[in-house]
Amino acid sequence: MRNTHPLQWEQVQTALAQNRLAHALVLVGPLHLGLVDFARALTQAMICPHQSACSDCVDCQMIARNEHPDVLWVKPDKAAGAIKIDQIRALSSFVFLTPKRAKKKVIWIEAAERMNTAAANALLKMLEEPPLHTHFILIAEQIGTLVPTVLSRAQVLRFNEQEHLLDVQFEALSAHYSDSERGLVLQNAQTLLRDLLLLLNNTLHPCKLAAQWSAYELSALLWFLYLVFAKVQKMQFLGTQAQGLGASQLLDLSKLLDRLSVFKILETFTTVLSTLQQNRQVNAVLVLEGLFFDLTEARCSSTRIAI
Ligand SMILES: [Zn+2]
Repeated sequence: MRNTHPLQWEQVQTALAQNRLAHALVLVGPLHLGLVDFARALTQAMICPHQSACSDCVDCQMIARNEHPDVLWVKPDKAAGAIKIDQIRALSSFVFLTPKRAKKKVIWIEAAERMNTAAANALLKMLEEPPLHTHFILIAEQIGTLVPTVLSRAQVLRFNEQEHLLDVQFEALSAHYSDSERGLVLQNAQTLLRDLLLLLNNTLHPCKLAAQWSAYELSALLWFLYLVFAKVQKMQFLGTQAQGLGASQLLDLSKLLDRLSVFKILETFTTVLSTLQQNRQVNAVLVLEGLFFDLTEARCSSTRIAI
C-alpha cells in the first residue's frame, strides 16, 4: 500500500499514529485500484501487535485470510444485490462485544453504495453513537451514491489516481512500482502491448494468450490493461499522442479500435473487476480467456493493421 497509494497510506498512518483515525472511513474509487486491499492493509496496521502491517504475525495473517475474529466483512449476498437491513442489524451483536484478540474491531462494508435505505439508516444509528473499539471502513465506487447522513459521520478518502496516471509514461510508472507485481507487468509493457495487438488482429488466439499471460498476477495485469485502454480512450477523445515506451503500440490500438469498442472494452473490465471483487478465488486463465474473447468481439471488424 505504501507503493500503491502512498498519499492515502500516509494520511491514515499519520492519523493512526496520533490516535485520531476516524471511527468511520469511506474509501471511494474505482474497483481496480485495490480498495479492498487497502482496507485489509489498513486493518492490519490497526490490529497488528507490532503496530505496522507486518504481514508476518498471526493477526496480520488472519486478516489476510479474512479469518480474524475481530474483523467482519459485510457485502451484498448476490453480485448485483443490495446490502439489506438484516445484515447491518446483525452487526450490533458484534459491535458491542469486547474484541477477542486485538484492541480494536473493524467492520468493512464493501459496495457500500448498495445499502438500501433501511440498511443505511440502521448503520447511521451505529455511527451516531460509535461503539468503543470499533472502526468502520466503507468501500464505494462513487461518493454520490452514498447516503449523505452516513457520509457526514465519516471521513472520506478518495482514490482517483487513474486520472493523473493516464498522463504518466510507462517507464515512470515502472520505476514507481519497481518491486511489485504491477512493476513486473510494466517492465514488460511493450511485449504485452504487442501481444494485445496480435490478439486484436486475430493472429494470436485468446486461449494461447491467456495461457502466456497467466504467468503474471491477475489483478496487476487487469490494472495495466485498464490503464492501456483508458489511455487509448483519452487519445481518441482529445486527439493527443502517447509519449515514451509503448507510444507507437498505443497509437496502433487507437487506430485499430473505434471509440465505441474502447468504451465497451472498458465496461467489460469494470464487470470483470467487480466479479473478482466478489470472488477472490478465481481461475486466472479462465478470466483472461473470457476477457480476450470479449476484446476480439468488441473490435471493429473491418480494420486491420500491419504490426
Ligand atoms: Zn502484523
